[in-house]
Amino acid sequence: MNYLSGKEYDAIVGEVISLYQDYLLTSFPIDVLSLAASMGYALKPYSTLRKEDRESLLQSKDTKDGFHTCDISKGYPEYTIWYNDMDQEPRWRHTIAHEIGHIVLKHGSNTTDRQEAAADYFAKQLLALSCVIILMGLTEVEDIVHRFNISWESAFYTWKAVEKRREKYGDSIMEYELEFAEWIRRWLPS
Ligand SMILES: [Zn+2]
Repeated sequence: MNYLSGKEYDAIVGEVISLYQDYLLTSFPIDVLSLAASMGYALKPYSTLRKEDRESLLQSKDTKDGFHTCDISKGYPEYTIWYNDMDQEPRWRHTIAHEIGHIVLKHGSNTTDRQEAAADYFAKQLLALSCVIILMGLTEVEDIVHRFNISWESAFYTWKAVEKRREKYGDSIMEYELEFAEWIRRWLPS
């Protein structure tokens, strides 16, 4: 996943940090269902669809995990996130976070590979923000899996990125995270 520049990754983290503060995401694992609802997005779990509809969604690589639609018939955008809730929970949590990423980052339909990479990074950070991992002092993949209710695969990726950052900067907080770190620290168990 090397599509984006450092600046683009940092901008995504900036968007995630804004969501944390705007929607008071202060306990972990974060509740993606209530976040999506608070953001005004409707949620459509596949288990509530007719069997034929569900099966046709599951057959396409583009829709088997989830997707979002935007209805503008009322003159303003109304978003719906469709997701495969019959998957394991960490997986559908990631799907919802990924779709929130597409909406927040204004990707529209027919996304490019770069936009997919951006939405994926957004989802990983939304679910397990590097800065929070550092503030919590988590150093094991297993702790990241359990603390944030994410998949091992996703936790391993995040852990590797955090370890790389630690090699370079130790546990110090970056300039652009300082204000957020002060804020979130108040909510973290000491
Ligand atoms: Zn996508």
